[in-house]
Amino acid sequence: MATNPAEVLSLPKPAWAADEVGMLYDMAHRFMSEEIAPRYDEFEKNEMVDRESWRKAGAAGLLCASMPEEYGGSGGTFAHESAIIEAIGHVGVDGFGIGLHNSIVAPYVLHYGSEEQKKKWLPKLATGELIGAIAMTEPGAGSDLQGVKTRAQKDGNQYKINGSKTFITNGQLANFIIVVTKTDPEKGAKGTSLIVVETDEVEGFERGRNLDKIGLKANDTSELFFNDMRVPTSNLLGHEEGQGFVQLMQQLPQERLQIGTGAIAMIERALALTIDYVKERKAFGKAIIDFQNTQFKLAELKTEATIGRVFYNDCVTRHIAGGLDPVTASMAKYWLSDLQGKVVDECLQLHGGYGYMNEYPIARMFRDARVQRIYGGTNEIMKLLIGRSL
Ligand SMILES: Cc1cc2nc3c(=O)[nH]c(=O)nc-3n(C[C@H](O)[C@H](O)[C@H](O)COP(=O)(O)OP(=O)(O)OC[C@H]3O[C@@H](n4cnc5c(N)ncnc54)[C@H](O)[C@@H]3O)c2cc1C
Repeated sequence: MATNPAEVLSLPKPAWAADEVGMLYDMAHRFMSEEIAPRYDEFEKNEMVDRESWRKAGAAGLLCASMPEEYGGSGGTFAHESAIIEAIGHVGVDGFGIGLHNSIVAPYVLHYGSEEQKKKWLPKLATGELIGAIAMTEPGAGSDLQGVKTRAQKDGNQYKINGSKTFITNGQLANFIIVVTKTDPEKGAKGTSLIVVETDEVEGFERGRNLDKIGLKANDTSELFFNDMRVPTSNLLGHEEGQGFVQLMQQLPQERLQIGTGAIAMIERALALTIDYVKERKAFGKAIIDFQNTQFKLAELKTEATIGRVFYNDCVTRHIAGGLDPVTASMAKYWLSDLQGKVVDECLQLHGGYGYMNEYPIARMFRDARVQRIYGGTNEIMKLLIGRSL
């Protein structure tokens, strides 16, 4: 029987993964296996998952799992989001951008939106009628978000927005985009505001290329352009302008933790697949697993993966209890994505030449894993943040 990625580390389940979170994981796993995996090659070729799949995910209760029920969500916590992202990782459909939609975009609306905004947007985000994105990065501002140039000028009851963004996840499909703007460029970080753009309703909004990436092929990553784009002032998130930087700083820990979720899930899948492979494949008259080097390598990787899983589970426990502190969230993002890169690389090596062939899942994992060290704040920036706490 094939090794199960969810059980490859033989660890006890943390309390937050019990009962209905476990059931949600099973349901999400079934959905990803039956609805997404069979069409994944097509999605990679099209460089996006189709809208219909987003709608189906909504109907299955996989969108906005941690949003309150009164706004169309499932009333869960980050544990529920973790279960969904882990299922995505264990099935190997990492390009389906639900994690960003659920645990990054929707929470901005929940935490900073007015009652009216929450009632207007969250139910549609929960069905998949709205697909979410967050647009921070610009051609000239990535790690240094204070350098954002996109300008939002008040004009009556509208904002006139000019600027451009790049590398935006879900950027071709998204019709609900939280845009990081400067409402008062003189004030630097304190002049930053988050403004929601419902792309179906505005003029002056243009999507650029669906960017040609080395991995995560099934995810659309896009340039966006704003040319005198007019958005109602009521789309500002927060009760006044200038709150954007603080809002970003408050939400980034969860974004970073969920990058860790994807990392640990892929680590477990890579190990499970590799253990199966080395038991099957033979050289010099014996199975690859019978070489001591293979056993030592996999022993090291399993040990590190176990340390990673225990650390991740603890981060989630703390996050659910009251919010993970930004320094630990940075550690989770940096350390787990670094480990992911290492594990996937070593597992590919144990596949020999077959590991380099796209028909073997480990090859796709190798390509998909690389960006985890870059987005959500590069791992160098994570070390900078950790360093500041010393
Ligand atoms: C596939 C993909 C999806 C993405 N999705 C999104 C998204 O949905 N929304 C969004 O807003 N952005 C997104 N991004 C952008 C991503 O967050 C940025 O690429 C990232 O923050 C790095 O910014 P940069 O590319 O401008 O690199 P730069 O900031 O130019 O960095 C280049 C190098 O310099 C290093 N560096 C920079 N500053 C320092 C410093 N102070 N000390 C030490 N080293 C430093 C960096 O670590 C990096 O190695 C995505 C990117 C990719 C590739």
